[in-house]
Amino acid sequence: MTWRAAVLTIFPEAFPGPLGVSLVGKALASGLWSLDVIDIRAYATDRHRSVDDTPAGGGPGMVMRADVLARAIDAAADGRPRLLMSPRGVPLTQKKVEALAREPGVLVVCGRFEGVDERVIEARGLEEVSIGDYVLAGGEVASMVLLEACVRLLPGVMGCAESGREESFSEGLLEYPQYTRPQEFEGRPIPAVLTSGDHRRIAAFRRAEAERLTRERRPDLWAAYLARSGAKGATKE
Ligand code: SAH
Repeated sequence: MTWRAAVLTIFPEAFPGPLGVSLVGKALASGLWSLDVIDIRAYATDRHRSVDDTPAGGGPGMVMRADVLARAIDAAADGRPRLLMSPRGVPLTQKKVEALAREPGVLVVCGRFEGVDERVIEARGLEEVSIGDYVLAGGEVASMVLLEACVRLLPGVMGCAESGREESFSEGLLEYPQYTRPQEFEGRPIPAVLTSGDHRRIAAFRRAEAERLTRERRPDLWAAYLARSGAKGATKE
């Protein structure tokens, strides 16, 4: 079954962009997912095809009009979750990505200017989603981040090499370090355990390294991991 994405944007020429390359692009070409790019400007009714206007109450910049955006949404909306990319949104996590990948698809609105008239967010039940605590110029790149993260989880997209693998966040830990040939690089050998052929020791090494990296780099994830799996015997410091 095809996972159906619709993107609403005033820059349709930005798509598919990076979503058209590599495995995600091949999956698009082969119909594992579809991308419907909707030009919000096509739903403007005035002579100048304007999609934005000055903010009520004053202040800098422009705001995307509720009426134009609502028409664009209504033309595309079906049962899919309706999202608005927004720095005010709930942070995008792997858990959220997994949930969205299980849906029949998503409808994603890309904001521009200072943002979107609040009334269309309410009236069309848009869920605001943020890709991080920084401000982009528009929602297009953010929507690509969300879509790429979802599509790579769809059955058949990544192939068996990737699918069953433990990845960053899959268990609340960052991924262990990876190595490949050459055996020695600028005086640094591959850790001996990885070439020992002893699968139990390799698994234990990787687990310990994943725990070490998470402890060092992401105290927030580490605390949550300890709270959940303290009983399972995580190596506390
Ligand atoms: N004035 C707004 C920022 C507008 S940025 C504020 O302070 O909250 C313009 C558009 O870029 C937004 O409407 C949103 O669609 C997109 N955008 C910017 N940063 C983003 C982020 N961190 N995550 C998701 N979308 C973002």
